Amino acid sequence: MAKIFCIANQKGGVGKTTTTVNLAAGLARIGQRVLLVDLDPQGNATMGSGVDKRTLARSVYDVLLGECSVAEAAVPAAQAAGYQVLGANRELAGAEIELVSLEQREKRLKTALAQVDRQFDFVLIDCPPSLSLLTLNGLCAAHGVVVPMQCEYFALEGVTDLLNTIRQVHGNLNPDLQIIGLLRVMFDARITLQQQVSEQLKEHFGDKVFDTVIPRNVRLAEAPSHGLPGVVFDANARGSQAFIAFAQEMVQRVKPRRQPGAKG
Ligand code: ADP
Ligand code: MG
Repeated sequence: MAKIFCIANQKGGVGKTTTTVNLAAGLARIGQRVLLVDLDPQGNATMGSGVDKRTLARSVYDVLLGECSVAEAAVPAAQAAGYQVLGANRELAGAEIELVSLEQREKRLKTALAQVDRQFDFVLIDCPPSLSLLTLNGLCAAHGVVVPMQCEYFALEGVTDLLNTIRQVHGNLNPDLQIIGLLRVMFDARITLQQQVSEQLKEHFGDKVFDTVIPRNVRLAEAPSHGLPGVVFDANARGSQAFIAFAQEMVQRVKPRRQPGAKG
């Protein structure tokens, strides 16, 4: 069964897309079968995976409107990246309005993904920076949410808002939804404020804060212009190494817990 995770934060520019693309590539590197779903009409995760959003024959838009299946729309990411992409482009912005009149409008993605449940170990959904009907489709389809965040002054406030939203979705639409964890990204250990906020996060959220910290690293920012995840563009860069470690931490976190007393 595929584990489905949303990468979400209602703020823009916090590292959602960078996290989705590099976690996808990191998981693929350690042998996991991964589908990346781009739910942002900007299509940055699509382009950053080496798929040209302008020439997509089918996209997540067609899937949401029920015009084709996930299997028909998914395409391979850049060769060395090793995962599949359900891409997005501008067209997706219109889905917001078109979905309103459809039945089960929050559950369209969930229903579509059910068909590829056995083909993938992980489905990673890159959400737009808003609580739109698109994001709701992501949250309804997911087992969990990964929240990338920068350790800045207002970070805690922003996260509290997001956690309240997740609780509401959990209560009303998707009782399976969990917060998998908070991921500290673009971290600069030389900045005292970032260290302080990082400590506050750990005090507040305990083991919901991932052990792995993603440093600010220019190679991660350069990679999209080459149509590659950082992990593929320069696997030895500090940022890429951190995402590979994060992929391993994710696999550990979501491994089914062995029953006490079980054999083997
Ligand atoms: P979002 O999807 O939340 O809007 P992005 O992943 O697009 O955020 O990141 C915003 C900008 O920050 C991009 O230009 C990206 O290349 C850059 N960026 C993201 N993570 C890092 C990092 N760890 N180090 C350096 N630059 C980063
Ligand atoms: Mg983005």
